[in-house]
Amino acid sequence: MNYINIHSHSLENRDGIVIYNALNLNNIPKTEENFYVSTALHPWYLKPELWNNNIKEYEEVIAEDNIIAIGECGIDLSINIKADVQKTIFTNHLQWADKYNKPLIIHCVKAHNEVISMKKKSNVKQACIIHGFNNNINIARQLLTAGFYLSFGDALLQNNSNAAAALKITPLERLFLETDESEHSISAIYEKAAILLNISKDELINQMNINFKKIFIKE
Ligand SMILES: [Zn+2]
Repeated sequence: MNYINIHSHSLENRDGIVIYNALNLNNIPKTEENFYVSTALHPWYLKPELWNNNIKEYEEVIAEDNIIAIGECGIDLSINIKADVQKTIFTNHLQWADKYNKPLIIHCVKAHNEVISMKKKSNVKQACIIHGFNNNINIARQLLTAGFYLSFGDALLQNNSNAAAALKITPLERLFLETDESEHSISAIYEKAAILLNISKDELINQMNINFKKIFIKE
């Protein structure tokens, strides 16, 4: 069975089943066997004066069959882009999730309260996955209680990371793993996660395949 890597920005590392995150609408690769594509308007690349122009363009691309998930989108309160603009854009993405039947891969920095309340308000039925989770257990609990999935990356490889502690309280059926921009392999992340969870790597791979089929393939 294959590794499932739900969030990668690398076209080269294709170990297992990968969801490649395209940040540039003009450069969206085709889906291939074991290679899927997600895209969205990332909060880092919002141009407040322009968003009204290209939000339609994003919706058109996201609606296409080639796109398996909407992301990464979300809220980042550590950057110099107005929260209101970010919220408006993220609200669009939340609506597209149910409209196009695609899960959300969410970038959330210093904004878990906002993201939780916006998910609630939107009443979105599709899975909402917080990617690259590396926050404390309390925030992990709040997100899990609100129905989010958590995806962990190479922060797990650091000793005593927040990610490692949060992983241990995440139910296996709400869990995903990813490489994001890491130079570490997906297999290294699975190996460490299996140790932290005290299960075999095969068991973990099996569960990630179940989660992937349920959330992304809708089997
Ligand atoms: Zn990313």
